[in-house]
Amino acid sequence: MKVQCQACMRESDVSGVSGEEIPWRCPTCHARHTLSASFNLLSGLRLLDRYTLPPDLKCSLEVLRDLKEAARCYNAYAPRAAAVMVRLALERTCIELGAAGNTLHAKIEDLADRGIFDKVLVQGATAMRLFGNAGAHPKDDLLDEKGELVEYSLKMAVDLLGKAKR
Ligand SMILES: [Zn+2]
Repeated sequence: MKVQCQACMRESDVSGVSGEEIPWRCPTCHARHTLSASFNLLSGLRLLDRYTLPPDLKCSLEVLRDLKEAARCYNAYAPRAAAVMVRLALERTCIELGAAGNTLHAKIEDLADRGIFDKVLVQGATAMRLFGNAGAHPKDDLLDEKGELVEYSLKMAVDLLGKAKR
């Protein structure tokens, strides 16, 4: 039977598989799925999440909403959209912390000057800002479909955005 990967959309031939919710990986992009099949007939196919947000994040509901959307984008193999949502979560956090400045770059510098962002936060925020910019501009090709940098950015956002002094 033909199975179409729900991440890269390529079709593969799968045979000798029967049962419910059987783990299956796309041979092309290695995206994890479960499939259900009987008598060589596909009856269900589901793309599994690559990343889930940890519970009890210490950020506002608005920032949490951005991070949830970033995780959904990442799990749907939309790395550029995910990077842009991480950047939005970061900028919203900066605004909540009372950052001055017109650009995100200026807001990060302002929070650093006032000691609200420490060195680790400034480095993390700068990476998130640059990945977000790469995701939103046609010329940049920093973010590939594997999404490793985006996963890094997402984990960093989850790790750092609740840690600034409020
Ligand atoms: Zn695939």
